[in-house]
Amino acid sequence: MGRRYRDAEFLRTQHVESGKSSTEIAQPCGTSPSTIRRRLARHDIEDGESLTTGECATCGDSFRYYPSVRDGQFCSNDCAGKPRRR
Ligand SMILES: [Zn+2]
Repeated sequence: MGRRYRDAEFLRTQHVESGKSSTEIAQPCGTSPSTIRRRLARHDIEDGESLTTGECATCGDSFRYYPSVRDGQFCSNDCAGKPRRR
């Protein structure tokens, strides 16, 4: 199976169209579910169920995130790297 999990379209097909979980995708690829979840988030691939809604601590926008990727405080890596507004 090699490293197909590195391909965004492969991940999208598996996760969105086939409805596979990160664990189900990871096993045949020989990688870990957390790796798959990070890659799904990086490519903005979502199945509409595994995301949680939070409110950004920096800009105040509501956003959806994978609990395993961010801690739910920031809408983006940019916001996570910025100091909080006074
Ligand atoms: Zn933000």
